[in-house]
Amino acid sequence: MNARKSISGKTRNMVAERQGWRCVYKRLGDKEPCGKELKVIGFDVDHIQAVVHDGPSDAANYRAICIPCHKLKTKLDIQANAKIKRITGVTKGPAKKAWGKGRKLESRPFRRKQP
Ligand SMILES: [Zn+2]
Repeated sequence: MNARKSISGKTRNMVAERQGWRCVYKRLGDKEPCGKELKVIGFDVDHIQAVVHDGPSDAANYRAICIPCHKLKTKLDIQANAKIKRITGVTKGPAKKAWGKGRKLESRPFRRKQP
């Protein structure tokens, strides 16, 4: 299911160790990184430069962040991508029809059950 190359436990530990086992993700508008303590199994390894943006799959491009931060980042990434698509017109569908004009919703006749 996951097409991405999985990161070995050794690499994960190395990345976390490098950061002193603290989450380094900076939330938008925050001056300080999250700083949450990372537990051996309770963190995600994130690509600093996303794979889709040609980020290399090696330890230099990894950082360890806590799961809540990763979820937030994923959400923001999706929103950012959607915004880019909107701006560049990738997802531009047919123009919305004006509501109401020439369109009448027919009401379904209500039938009483005959005894
Ligand atoms: Zn965090």
